[in-house]
Amino acid sequence: MPARRDMLRLGLAAAAVGLALPVRARQAPPAPSGGFISRKLNAPVPGGVAVLSLGDAATAPEASYRDRRVLVVREAGRQWIAVVGIPLAVKPGPQGITLRDAAGARQLPFTVGAKDYVAQHITLKNPRQVNPNPDDMRRIEREMAEQSAAYRAYRAGVTPSNLLLDRPVKGGRLSSPFGLRRFFNGEERNPHSGLDFAVPAGTPIKAPAAGVVSLVGDYFFNGKTVFLDHGQGFVSMFCHMSAIDVKVGDTVPRGGVVGRVGATGRATGPHLHWNVSLNDARVDPAIFIGAFKP
Ligand SMILES: [Zn+2]
Repeated sequence: MPARRDMLRLGLAAAAVGLALPVRARQAPPAPSGGFISRKLNAPVPGGVAVLSLGDAATAPEASYRDRRVLVVREAGRQWIAVVGIPLAVKPGPQGITLRDAAGARQLPFTVGAKDYVAQHITLKNPRQVNPNPDDMRRIEREMAEQSAAYRAYRAGVTPSNLLLDRPVKGGRLSSPFGLRRFFNGEERNPHSGLDFAVPAGTPIKAPAAGVVSLVGDYFFNGKTVFLDHGQGFVSMFCHMSAIDVKVGDTVPRGGVVGRVGATGRATGPHLHWNVSLNDARVDPAIFIGAFKP
């Protein structure tokens, strides 16, 4: 049955791999020898970020990880650093980025540690949001392709305004952490790809860093959605919005309003869902706002 096959591909691939058997957190790997940003952002676990020092050459080295270009910035005007997003499905152990500079190409290894992600059970009144019908599936595939492209886009040479991000909404409890293994009406689906803030409908959503609006949509699962491209594959996505105040191509300053909190798409109530992506890997937004729990 094709629909079933699609469901497996869409819903279960990421959920089942590597996360089915939680492993106790091991000793955290040593922090890199870099500066403030490196120490704040380095959380090399599945769904985390590895910050790697790349030296102080005159021009930026080019880095890639799993066939995707990586964000490279100069930290405090000195060392180049690679800020690498680690997909949730990556298993703990040795990994590496590929560096290209005047001297040629070489591998730079790093180690991914383990992290526990707990399970969450959610009840949805609409069974189509658990097992979409064939028409829904066609729509979902189209929408996923569109959103995947927005995550893959890489604007080279654009230095993000800030890597330590502002909270996109004022106040609000962090209601669902990143990486939760989710069961909808008892059926396992994709793990939670972002961070939820419990705030009332209508709360303004502000750009956590400057960016260009790369995609706007109204999607089956995500509802009203905005993608904000901060540069070099560093992307924020906001969804379940009640209203969108921007359009594709708009430049939004840090703190600029992109829309309002809502409960559109697959949501049990009003909240902001915020994804952060680096090199096409969805990573824990809590890392960027100083709220990461190892
Ligand atoms: Zn969410």
